[in-house]
Amino acid sequence: MHDAPALLDVEGLRVRFNPKIEAIRGVSLRVERGQTHCVVGESGCGKSVSALAVMGLLARGAKRHAAHMRFDGQDILGLSERDLQKLRGDRMAMIFQEPMTSLNPAYTVGSQMAEVLVRHRRVSKQQGLDRAAELLAKVGITAPGMRLAQYPHQLSGGLRQRVMIAMALMCDPELLIADEPTTALDVTVQAQILRLLRDLQQELGLAILLITHDLGVVARIAHKVSVMYAGEVVESASATDLFANPRHPYTRGLLACVPVPGTIKRGEPLGSIPGTVPRIADGFVGCGFRDRCVHAMPACAISVPSRDDGAGHRYLCHLQ
Ligand code: SF4
Repeated sequence: MHDAPALLDVEGLRVRFNPKIEAIRGVSLRVERGQTHCVVGESGCGKSVSALAVMGLLARGAKRHAAHMRFDGQDILGLSERDLQKLRGDRMAMIFQEPMTSLNPAYTVGSQMAEVLVRHRRVSKQQGLDRAAELLAKVGITAPGMRLAQYPHQLSGGLRQRVMIAMALMCDPELLIADEPTTALDVTVQAQILRLLRDLQQELGLAILLITHDLGVVARIAHKVSVMYAGEVVESASATDLFANPRHPYTRGLLACVPVPGTIKRGEPLGSIPGTVPRIADGFVGCGFRDRCVHAMPACAISVPSRDDGAGHRYLCHLQ
């Protein structure tokens, strides 16, 4: 049972790249206002495809279906490309692992940030530049006036990521979708960016859907967590509950890979889950994790029960 409508409410999302390949197999996600929902899993689990499907940014030819997909109560599955584009600029924004995916190397930071506001709010270029300078300062960039005149290649990786975040905030979005926003950064800058996202969330009431393969990132920022494996959410819970009481063997395996300070001796290898994520083209009957699961039993090859503790902790597994 959910009390209030979530800002983003996705139920039973499926994505196909062709009739044979179903990459996303019934993913459900809720992102509450002012909270961070982390989607975690290894590469190839379907995290980014799910986010792109929500934003309506899938590659040409890909098909998405869902029982429902709502933003602030409004159905967004049936929106025209034009309305979706407006929603993406105005109320939902996305940032990526590599800022150069979004920043155009041929234009100054100022002109591309201002352009967002000119396009979506029909303000003057100067008003766009003023807003850009204000946001660069908000994301902790000193001398914003000077940065506006620079090109992306003149900035460090950490600064570029801050510019991306500032650009995403130009139209005051309510939802920020961040796909591995700190993966390419060193540990110190990563911590700064996560702190920045948390501060912005508190100040602006932002909802954040954050995609990561790093449970260390999840521990720092998540209110809720969905663990994805082979195109499905195999476990979802509040962050506190998931870390205290992981139920799915895959989640437990991921947690076992996270080093706990003081428990790893110098030179000792970190834990890892044996085996690899199955190819999405392989198709599934039963549990997609069974080739890697030490608890696998014959029933796991036939079907997987969905379990719910009644307090919002759900997982797919035969184990109780
Ligand atoms: Fe392991 Fe079976 Fe549970 Fe899958 S359903 S995680 S194979 S015990």
